[in-house]
Amino acid sequence: MKYSLWTLARNALDYHRQWQAAWRSPEPRAEYDFAVIGGGGHGLATAYYLAKEHGAGSVCVLEKGWLGGGNTARNTTIVRSNYLLPASARLYDHSVSLWQTLSAELNFNVMFSPRGLLHLAHNISDMREIARRGHSNYVNGVDAETLTPEEVRAHVPFINLRGRYPVLGALLQKRGGVARHDAVAWGFARAADSLGVDIIQNCEVNGFDIRGGKVQAVRTSRGKIKVRKRVGAVVAGHCGVVADMAGFRLPVETVPLQAFVSEPLAPVINCVVMSNTVHAYVSQSDKGELVIGGGSDPFNSYAQRGSFDQIEHVAGPIVELYPIFSRVNILRQWAGIVDITPDRSPLLSATPVRNLFINCGWGTGGFKATPGSGHAFAATLAKGEPNELCAPFSLDRFVTGDLVDEAAAAAVAH
Ligand SMILES: Cc1cc2nc3c(=O)[nH]c(=O)nc-3n(C[C@H](O)[C@H](O)[C@H](O)COP(=O)(O)OP(=O)(O)OC[C@H]3O[C@@H](n4cnc5c(N)ncnc54)[C@H](O)[C@@H]3O)c2cc1C
Repeated sequence: MKYSLWTLARNALDYHRQWQAAWRSPEPRAEYDFAVIGGGGHGLATAYYLAKEHGAGSVCVLEKGWLGGGNTARNTTIVRSNYLLPASARLYDHSVSLWQTLSAELNFNVMFSPRGLLHLAHNISDMREIARRGHSNYVNGVDAETLTPEEVRAHVPFINLRGRYPVLGALLQKRGGVARHDAVAWGFARAADSLGVDIIQNCEVNGFDIRGGKVQAVRTSRGKIKVRKRVGAVVAGHCGVVADMAGFRLPVETVPLQAFVSEPLAPVINCVVMSNTVHAYVSQSDKGELVIGGGSDPFNSYAQRGSFDQIEHVAGPIVELYPIFSRVNILRQWAGIVDITPDRSPLLSATPVRNLFINCGWGTGGFKATPGSGHAFAATLAKGEPNELCAPFSLDRFVTGDLVDEAAAAAVAH
C-alpha cells in the first residue's frame, strides 16, 4: 500500500480498519542467498539496497529483539558530514545527500530536518580546530561556515557568550540537522519488506557453521539458516560478540552512551548546538523536548542504563551555556551500547571468514550515516569485495597503519 494523502483519506472514511501491516512477520526459510544480522537502521538499509539495487535474490534480516531496539532508536538523531578526512567526508556526505530524498525514496516520512548544526569553539585550540576542519570540509566539497560570536547569537539568541565557557566562534554546517530515528528503521523495514526481504524479529544469531573458511549456515534461536552467498554482521555494540562466534577479534570497545530529554517546551531552539570541549549538545525534538547528550561512559558495559552522574556532568555545561534551561525538568534518560574503534571511524570490511562481512564501529555517531552506510555496504556484500566508499574502512588499516583518524575531529562524534 502506497502511503499518500489519498490513502489516508480513504482509510479515514473507513475508520482506519483497513491499514495493512507495515511489514510481514514471516517464518525463517531454510536457506537464503544473503543474511543480514541486526535489524537496526544500518542492517535494514543494507537489506533494502541489496534488494533494490543489486537484484540480490533472497535476503533475510535476523534481529534478536525488535526493529530499531538497539542504538537506532536510542540516539539523539544528529545528522552531519563535516568530518576531517577525505574518506570520512565522502562516506558521510554521501549519506547526507541520500537523507535529502529519503522520505520520498521510502514512501515514509523520516522527518529529516536540515536545520543547521553549530560546533562551538570555547578557546584558542577550539578556534584552530574549527578553522582546520572548516578548510578541510571546503576542500572536500562539504559545506562549512565559521561564525563570529555575534553570528552565533543570531542562531541562538539566549546563549551565554561570556560565561565559564566563553563562545569565541562556531563552525556551521547548514545541511546538518536531525531526523526521526525510529521512522528510519520502520521506513527501511517497510520498503525492504515490499521488495521481498524477510525481516525476522526475535531471532538471535548464536553461532555459525564455518567450513572451508566460509559460513555455510547461521545458527539462530529459531533454527539453522543456510546461506548461499554472503553474511553481513551489522550489530553495533555486539559486533565483538558476533566476531567471537566466527573465531576472530575486532579492534572495538563496547561502552554505554547516554542521553536524556526534558519535558516538552514551546519552540525555543531551531538548530543543533554541539560543544566538544565541554561534551554537551542540545537540539529540540518535534515534540518540543530538549534532546541532550554528552560523551560516552568511561567503562565497558552491555547495560543499557542511564546514571545520575552523567546527567550532572552534562546538565552543568548546558545550564552554564543556556541559563534559560536551568529550571526545565528532565523527563527521561537512557543509554545505548556503542562500538568504538581506536581511530573513531567505522569498519565496513571483509573479515578472516571469506563470506562474512562486517559493518560496525560507528561508535557514538553512526545514525547520520544510516542510508550511506547501507548503500555502500550493500554494494560490498553484493560483489563480495569492498566498494570504493567502504575500502578505506577495512580491518586491515589496523595492520597497515593507514588509519582514518577522526578521533580529534570527533571528540563528540554524534
Ligand atoms: C545515546 C546515543 C546517542 C547517539 N547520538 C547519535 C547522534 O546524534 N547522531 C549519530 O549519527 N549517531 C548517534 N549515535 C550512534 C548511533 O545510534 C549508532 O551508531 C547507530 O544507530 C548504529 O546503528 P546500527 O543499525 O548499526 O546499530 P543498532 O541500531 O544498535 O542495531 C544493531 C541490531 O543488532 C541486533 N543484534 C545484536 N546482536 C545480535 C545477534 N546476535 N543476533 C541478531 N541480532 C543482533 C540488536 O538487537 C540491534 O537491534 C548515538 C548513540 C547513542 C546510544
